[in-house]
Order: sequence, then C-alpha cells, then structure tokens
Amino acid sequence: MLMKTMKAAVFEGEWRLTVKEMPVPAITRDDEILIEVEACSICGTEVHITAVPPAYPATPNTILGHEFVGYVREKGAVVDQLQVGDRVVVNPNNYCGKCYYCRKNLPNQCEHMEALGIDYNGAFAKYCVVRDKVAYPIREDVDAAVAACAEPLSCVLNGLEKVHVRPGDSAVVIGAGPIGLMIAMLLNRMGVHKLLILETAEPRAKFAKRLSLGTVMNPLKENALEAVQAATGIGADIVFDVTGSQMATSVELVRKGGTVVLFGVNKKALKEIAQCEITTKEIEVKGTWLANATFPRAVQVLENREIDLSLLVTGIYSLEEIHKGLELLREGEAVKVIIRP
Ligand SMILES: [Zn+2]
Ligand SMILES: [Zn+2]
Repeated sequence: MLMKTMKAAVFEGEWRLTVKEMPVPAITRDDEILIEVEACSICGTEVHITAVPPAYPATPNTILGHEFVGYVREKGAVVDQLQVGDRVVVNPNNYCGKCYYCRKNLPNQCEHMEALGIDYNGAFAKYCVVRDKVAYPIREDVDAAVAACAEPLSCVLNGLEKVHVRPGDSAVVIGAGPIGLMIAMLLNRMGVHKLLILETAEPRAKFAKRLSLGTVMNPLKENALEAVQAATGIGADIVFDVTGSQMATSVELVRKGGTVVLFGVNKKALKEIAQCEITTKEIEVKGTWLANATFPRAVQVLENREIDLSLLVTGIYSLEEIHKGLELLREGEAVKVIIRP
C-alpha cells in the first residue's frame, strides 16, 4: 500500500523552493505509470528557476525535478510495453504526437509540450506519474546516479546528431558544466584528437582538468583564439557552445567551413555578431534543443559504459538537503548533484 502523502520539493513562485508534504500522485489516465523515484539529478534549469531574480520560468506550486530513474509501481489499463517492477528513465518533455512538428519528426518542438518538473509535478519526490510513451527501460546494473543522467545525455546525443564528427577532427567545447563534459567525453570516444575546453569558473576548470579530456583553459586569463590557432593551424573543425551566450566566440574559433553547435538557453545573450564572418568563412551554425528519439541510445551508452558519467557526480543528497545542492551548483562548486528522495 502506498502512503497518502510524500515529501516533495515544491516551487512556490518567486525563486522559493520548499520541501513539504504533498499528496502521492495517482494515475488518472489508462496510459500512465506511477514511478517510485530512485534518484533525480539537479539540472541547471532548477538553478535558474530558483535564482534571484529568476532566470527561467516555471509554474508555481509545481514539484520540480526532471532528470530521474525509478521503478514502475502501478500502471494504467492500456500500458502494454512496461510491467510493474520495471526500472525506467523518463523523457520529461511529453509530446502530443499529433501536431505539425510531431508529424515532422520534431517532437522536441511539439506545440503542446508538457514539461515535467517545470509546468507539471516532477520527480523531486518519492513518486511521480508520467505517460508510458516517455518511459524507457534501463538495466538495474546501471548505478542510479548515472541512470539519472540519461535525460541530459539524450540532449547531448541530439546535439551530436547536428554535426558530422570524424576521427582526427579538432573541437572546442565552451563551458565545462555537465553538458560540456558529457560532450567532451563522447568526442574523445569518437576519436577527436585536439580538444580544447574553455571554462571561466575556476572550480569547474580544475574539475575538468582532472578528467584529462583535453586542454582546459580559462579564456579570461589566456587567449583562446591563439591557443586554438596554435593547436590546429586553421581553427577548430567543430565548436560547441553550451553556455548559451558564446556564439560570437564560437564563430571566431571555428575554421572556415566548420560547424558551430549551440546548446543551452540564455535569454539575456543578445550579442551582435558580424554576419559576414559566417558568410565568408562558410560556417554552419546549428541550434539543438532537448532530445529527439535519442533516449534509446542514451540508455545504450549508459548500459554499455561507453562513457563513465559517475566521474561527473560530485554529490548525492537527500531531498531535505536540496538547497545545499542548488547552492553548490550556483557557486560552480559542483558538477552533477543527485537527490535520492
Ligand atoms: Zn535538465
Ligand atoms: Zn506535438
């Protein structure tokens, strides 16, 4: 028998996040499953939602948390691909499957997207209800903290879809947070040989250096353009900006005919850019947003241990300690923080 209430981290509006008793959610549709949350990772989005002033919108009185793994405890009548007891990871962006974009194979651009843990109750809680179509089975031997990273990893894989990476390519990753480091790990795996990682926050730069994924430098202290030119002779084949604000730098660092991939959202970044740089250098600039059919591969990457995401986990906390985790992320002193409700 389930309890009637559970502890949950609820966004109360105006950056206030409170851990309090909430009703245990119930299945209300035949295609839903009730998940007992095993682990839920704190995303940069939650750092932005709870920032003063807020840097990302969320609906008040919503339980936050969208990067998680858990066990199916109940299922609706028409759920046929999953069984009670299955371990699953979840795509928190439930798409309708029927709008123009869904029918153009762009469910990540769905016109009726439901964002779990932002606009609908999420997984910083003991239980969470989702549609069966957004849940993906994952083996039990994948560590819970690692499995909770399936969502950001699936976004990273979607970003890598946007560019043709060849062994021997050179690349720059701007931003050494979890997304940047996951990209760097995969690029290493794919045979990229000259990799520069730019990070301005000292604790994160230090952390990235210890992972030995490439040359880590602080662009505020060293000249990134000179370093990229020295390493490649012509500029990087590919530049990934995961900060959401370094498009101009990316265009500067990429070689002629190279590709820039833009991850991450910073609505304040409205930098002017010399369009002729893109024209005359024949640069491809690509945006990437959320995950698109990349969850199954994210699960494969984790189950096959293609990269070791446990290296990125800097802390595991209880739900009551969630503010501590958020603070460490805000200060740039943590990379991946996991909550075990
Ligand atoms: Zn996230
Ligand atoms: Zn849709």
